[in-house]
Amino acid sequence: MKLPAFQFTCLNCDGTFIEPEVPEGSYGIFLLRSDSGERRSLDAGVDPVFDEIVPLVRAITGNQSNDRSFAALHHKAFSATCDPDKLQQRFILGAKPTCPKCDSTELSWKPFEDVPPTEVPEVEHQLWSQLSSAQKYGVIKNILTQTGT
Ligand SMILES: [Zn+2]
Repeated sequence: MKLPAFQFTCLNCDGTFIEPEVPEGSYGIFLLRSDSGERRSLDAGVDPVFDEIVPLVRAITGNQSNDRSFAALHHKAFSATCDPDKLQQRFILGAKPTCPKCDSTELSWKPFEDVPPTEVPEVEHQLWSQLSSAQKYGVIKNILTQTGT
C-alpha cells in the first residue's frame, strides 16, 4: 500500500527527516515499524488475522469492551502474529520512527506533499498460519503478559 510522506521534526535535536505515515482519519489503516526501521502496512479491513485474534485477546485478558483499552491490547497482540523483519525483529503496530541523528522518539510530524507516497509492503502471517490453535493461544498470551510493547 502507498502511504504519504510526512516531515518529522525531532523535539530533542531539531533535526528533520521524511518518513511515510498514516494520514489522520484513515480508519483501519496502520503502519508497523521494527526497531531496525523496516516498515509494514496493514489494512485491518482485509487482514484475516486482525479479526481472528479478537476472541483470543478477550479470552486471555477478560476485556470485553470495545474501547481504547481493548484496542491497545488487540494492537499489541497483533504484532505477535506478523512475520518478523530481516533481522528477526518484531513489527510494532503504530510505532513511530526514531530520529536518525539522536535516536530520540520525541517527535512532531506533519504531511509533506513535496515527496511522493512510498510503497510500504503489507504485513505477512506465514509463521502464524503454521501454528496450531494451542500455539496461537500461547503466542498471544505470551505477548500480552510481557510489559511494555
Ligand atoms: Zn534528534
